[in-house]
Amino acid sequence: MARRLVIIGGDAAGMSAAAQARRLTAAGELEIVAFERGSRTSYAACGLPYLVGGLVHTPELLIARTPEQHRANGIDVRMHHEVTAIDARALTVTVRNLDTGREAVEHYDELLIGTGASGIVPPWPGIDAEGVLQLRTLDDAAAVERRLGAGARRAVVVGAGYIGLEVAEGLLGRGLEVTVVERLDAPMGAVLDADMAAHVAEAMQSAGIDLRLGTAVTGFTALDGRVTAVETAAGPIAADLMVIGLGVRPNVDLARAAGIGVGEAGGIIVDDHLRTGTPHVWAAGDCVESYHRITGRSVVVALGTHANKQGRAAGTNIAGGDAAFAGVLGTAITKFQNLEIGRTGLTEGEAGAAGFDAIGVTTEASSRAHYYPGAQPMRIKTVAERRTGRLLGAQIVGGEGAGKRIDVLATALWNNMTVEAVGGMDLSYAPPFSPVWDPVLLAAGKTASKI
Ligand SMILES: Cc1cc2nc3c(=O)[nH]c(=O)nc-3n(C[C@H](O)[C@H](O)[C@H](O)COP(=O)(O)OP(=O)(O)OC[C@H]3O[C@@H](n4cnc5c(N)ncnc54)[C@H](O)[C@@H]3O)c2cc1C
Repeated sequence: MARRLVIIGGDAAGMSAAAQARRLTAAGELEIVAFERGSRTSYAACGLPYLVGGLVHTPELLIARTPEQHRANGIDVRMHHEVTAIDARALTVTVRNLDTGREAVEHYDELLIGTGASGIVPPWPGIDAEGVLQLRTLDDAAAVERRLGAGARRAVVVGAGYIGLEVAEGLLGRGLEVTVVERLDAPMGAVLDADMAAHVAEAMQSAGIDLRLGTAVTGFTALDGRVTAVETAAGPIAADLMVIGLGVRPNVDLARAAGIGVGEAGGIIVDDHLRTGTPHVWAAGDCVESYHRITGRSVVVALGTHANKQGRAAGTNIAGGDAAFAGVLGTAITKFQNLEIGRTGLTEGEAGAAGFDAIGVTTEASSRAHYYPGAQPMRIKTVAERRTGRLLGAQIVGGEGAGKRIDVLATALWNNMTVEAVGGMDLSYAPPFSPVWDPVLLAAGKTASKI
């Protein structure tokens, strides 16, 4: 008889696991059932800001695989089905059909939890008013679109993390007046050092965004149920569309209630094979904690890149193979208009907080040979351990060609290189792509000279 794999959550982690397990096993060997409470599978949330911004023209373009495509691939996907409980002793889950309200108990031999994360929404007064939205799903994007269709002219984005930044760019592109309210003193202040974040602030302000830093939101004012202003410690800001982007919290209630271990960072605890401590239960994606390769700590880094890799590794292991997820560096990239922003590893602030005696060195460079048309300025900040010269992290802010250079530094970081060794790497050169000394080489060399 076929073993039965049950998956909770039909997006990146869950369906990567399902697809990989299907690839590696015959249907007669493994039955795969995925329960998804929403109405879509495998969609690219990462593309939502560009859908809102009008760069991506239809929501369908963001869907990698529909439920029908998964079913044709031998995965029994049940939409509008919410798992409400796990009984890890009986090896069952309780599932509610959200269309009929009926509940059923389903057996599993292996269970994968891929429940993702939810946006942080503080219990502010007025939070439920019409026009106060998040941008996490295609339905959220449709709600933003409806507000725009209804004539919204002024938007406030609460939170200047990477999603807030991308949403602000999108709404600005749609012709709205945009204010961004951020409690910290810098945009992307949780992932960039202040000196690097200052360039992001500059770009936002020169694009016409009213950037309110160091400003705490206290609630919303509504008229006839519809939002009219966001209240802040520094006074109200009138707007007819609010988008909240305050980061996320892993969805772990089901796991916790079933006695499955949840860590201090707030995610489900898994080993490098995505096994939880509970027999036959696996977890992957935004709902889990990952091993940070520089600090050795458990962290929640909710990114699609990890969800896909973890789901795939879990699928391999569930199918009887052997695949490890080797941890995270916190590498991330985004952009605001023409400004590309990348980061990996630890910022100078994070390195200090983690107990490293670290040095941070900023280098200004050009994306191309100075005489070649289109050369763009960029700044690279490299963080290294003072005693050993070991690279601990890097941040890049600059024009076209800057952002993806972070991947070279992430590769060096992944392999525990010193800044001196990075400065001597054999990187490509031709005038349209870089100066003779690539900005990465320059930055690493300059840092090495200060060790
Ligand atoms: C606007 C935006 C932009 C982003 N941009 C990037 C980017 O540029 N780069 C990047 O790497 N990442 C980005 N991300 C993050 C990325 O989308 C997530 O990391 C990824 O989707 C996580 O996949 P997941 O499967 O773990 O969780 P999710 O995508 O959240 O999927 C979890 C699924 O589980 C379902 N579910 C939850 N509980 C239950 C239950 N009890 N029963 C049934 N179903 C359940 C949910 O409905 C959901 O469909 C972005 C996210 C957003 C919102």
